[in-house]
Amino acid sequence: MNPQTMAEKIMSRLAAQPVRAGEFVELGPDWTFSLDDGIGLVDRYFRLHGIDRLAAPDKIAVFYDHFAPADTPQHAMVQRLGRQLCERFGIRRLHDVGTGISHQIAVETGLARPGQMVTNTDSHTLTVGAIGAIGCGIGVAEMAWLWAYGHLWFQVPTSLRITLEGRLAPGVSAKDLVLSIIGRLSVRGAQYGSVEYHGPALSTLSIAERMTLCNMGVEMGAKFAVVPGDHVTRAHYAALGIEVGEMPAPDAGAHYAEDHRFDLSEIEPMVSAPSKVDNVHPVSSKAGVQIHQAFIGTCTNGRFEDFEIAARVLAGRRVAEGVRLVVTPASREVYLRAMQSGALQTLIEAGATVTTPGCGACAGIHQGVLAADEVCISSSSRNFIGRMGNRDASIYLASPATVAASALAGRIADPREVLAE
Ligand code: SF4
Repeated sequence: MNPQTMAEKIMSRLAAQPVRAGEFVELGPDWTFSLDDGIGLVDRYFRLHGIDRLAAPDKIAVFYDHFAPADTPQHAMVQRLGRQLCERFGIRRLHDVGTGISHQIAVETGLARPGQMVTNTDSHTLTVGAIGAIGCGIGVAEMAWLWAYGHLWFQVPTSLRITLEGRLAPGVSAKDLVLSIIGRLSVRGAQYGSVEYHGPALSTLSIAERMTLCNMGVEMGAKFAVVPGDHVTRAHYAALGIEVGEMPAPDAGAHYAEDHRFDLSEIEPMVSAPSKVDNVHPVSSKAGVQIHQAFIGTCTNGRFEDFEIAARVLAGRRVAEGVRLVVTPASREVYLRAMQSGALQTLIEAGATVTTPGCGACAGIHQGVLAADEVCISSSSRNFIGRMGNRDASIYLASPATVAASALAGRIADPREVLAE
């Protein structure tokens, strides 16, 4: 058998035959997740086509994260339909309002395991790559098919190797690293590819940091982004009391269409300026841009570690007059940890508004929508026109530390200056 990449290896297991990049295969993923923003359509397809049984209910999980709690009567109806669907088909894993974002829960609870493949009706499913799994978004019609029949066609992606060396400097984060990668490779740089991360720097990156790295792979057009399992992965599962077997790894000699290298010690705080994710610049070149809202949350950067660093920046200080700081934990678990550590109290004392765990303001359909001509600096993954609910507003993407420092200054600011004080 030819040496295989991570994607080829995992897809070969599921297809029960060796597969190679470029081939079309039919397989049944280990997990099929659906969310509140699409569950109503799954229900509709089932009724339209008379589907009355599921291929594998134990491989299904439903998450209410995009508009939780419901913000309109229509959304409340969709969530009710989803609950009824779960009851009708015996789906046991319904993560209802307040539990958090699907990608966060999949990793923090150990639901997704190394070597698995996850499909979800959400484009940031690549996040599970942090624990040595592959994950991708699919459409609602495809999800309805998968739930009913258990198999779907996929093309095995070509893999790109990104080697990471060096170490991030204080005040610089995995978000700055992934923005630097996207800035160099562009939004089309990994089109339908599988980004595999390698190199000695990986051992310095936590699971939370790896999640940020893999999460934004889709902003380069990638199908998957994955970090092969290692001692950091194993420690994550050990802390959860879960025994994981052999860690998935690519074969020596596997074929990579491209090779890129990044030295982490050269990375500085970065922002992605409106309105394309690859419009990436050092924070210093955008310092002074006035902001109206600062948002810390999402599946990209709404984790405990993100609130800890934001709290370090804001401890004993107040956000600038005229700035709203909106904070949304990625899960209930994150919310509780940040409460217990005191990070949330620090943020609230600095003037933050804390919202229900979930996607919050990220997609512009829920808490924290922008007004025309407003500027938001956000720890999220997308700054497209209209992303936060208003096509006449502007969004800058940055790390939680940069968002917090900017909230403090009322203008885009370098967090290293505050952290050094
Ligand atoms: Fe999508 Fe944002 Fe929710 Fe992540 S937090 S799943 S990017 S809407």
